[in-house]
Amino acid sequence: MEQSAKIYEDLDRILVTKEEIAEKVRELGQKITKDYAGKEPVLVCILKGAVLFFSDLMREIDLPVTADFMAISSYGSATKTSGVVRVLKDLDKDIVGKDVIIVEDIVDTGVTLNYLKSMLAHRGAASIRIAALLDKTARRTVPDLKVDYVCFDIPDAFVVGYGLDYDQTYRNLPDIGVLSPKIYGDK
Ligand code: 5GP
Ligand code: MG
Ligand code: MG
Repeated sequence: MEQSAKIYEDLDRILVTKEEIAEKVRELGQKITKDYAGKEPVLVCILKGAVLFFSDLMREIDLPVTADFMAISSYGSATKTSGVVRVLKDLDKDIVGKDVIIVEDIVDTGVTLNYLKSMLAHRGAASIRIAALLDKTARRTVPDLKVDYVCFDIPDAFVVGYGLDYDQTYRNLPDIGVLSPKIYGDK
């Protein structure tokens, strides 16, 4: 898709280009490959936002990984999370004794990941780390949450693309951009 494509018109600006994403994801894959040498980590994709990041990242990890998927929903409006998390689809396999890497699109307040991490920790994983494509550190309300791997620190703006949606749209943008507030008004 070219940046002249129709859905690009709804962006205020491009924040991260597809080339920058590809480079960072490659670097992260290499880092995980080193950090987990000799291990067989379970990559847990948090649906749906992390799907593109997950599929690119796993191809950059030179280890015998397995993949599992979880869908959660944080109650709230389309652009703000409420802190209450519900599991819509759970993992297929148990994770007892496994080295788990949670792969998430974006950490905002940190409430969602904090909840998920403690939930998976209670299931007896050997280790749990978090890999996030984007981090909005300025908005963190859970200061203790450790985000082990981050590709990009971004400012406090609502972003879409490369998996991230607004009302289920824009996930297919190859770049990441700031959605024009005129699209979501005061929702
Ligand atoms: P948290 O619990 O960290 O506040 O919220 C995390 C979730 O809120 C993310 O997984 C994502 O679904 C959603 N979210 C937070 N900020 C953004 C954003 O800028 N754009 C989009 N599309 N989703 C966001
Ligand atoms: Mg998410
Ligand atoms: Mg969303």
